[in-house]
Amino acid sequence: MKRKAVYAGSFDPITMGHLDITRRALGIFDEIVVAVAHNPEKDSALFSAAERVDMIRTALADTGDRVTVDAFSGLLVEYCDRVRATAIIRGLRAVSDFEYEFQMAMMNRHLNPRVETYFMTASETYFYTASRLVKEVASLGGDVSALVPPVVHRALVERFSAGKRS
Ligand code: ADP
Repeated sequence: MKRKAVYAGSFDPITMGHLDITRRALGIFDEIVVAVAHNPEKDSALFSAAERVDMIRTALADTGDRVTVDAFSGLLVEYCDRVRATAIIRGLRAVSDFEYEFQMAMMNRHLNPRVETYFMTASETYFYTASRLVKEVASLGGDVSALVPPVVHRALVERFSAGKRS
């Protein structure tokens, strides 16, 4: 049986931390679905789900067909059943992630005991990298090029320079 895992998140936008987790997970699972969670009703994201998916595909173009990228809304455990994945991957950074991630893992197990949550840590280089901070710094003109893939860097520069013009 192929071991298939879903790496779910907002990925608004994807960072080097997320990419590091995805590549590490390829050493453990046969197939990874990077799944962009979005809420069509109240999505306050900077990038649309389609833009996020496109950027992730570009950033992971070298990984071949073991990685697929998709968007979903609704319950993650139901999505896992739909794509026949038996594992959820989540990344853990500092202690601050732990409480929320632990609660979510327990809730997901309650909702669907067939799906197991796996926590992974990225390289220490990206321990403090967070999409929220990357957006904030980029919006103020700071250089985030080392923290995001080139496709995301271009999109951030474009998005925030367009904002300045208007
Ligand atoms: P969410 O919006 O659900 O927090 P994110 O898109 O921020 O999701 O991130 C998806 C997952 O990746 C989460 O489990 C998050 O903790 C993890 N993650 C985010 N950034 C990093 C990083 N730099 N290193 C390791 N894990 C990370």
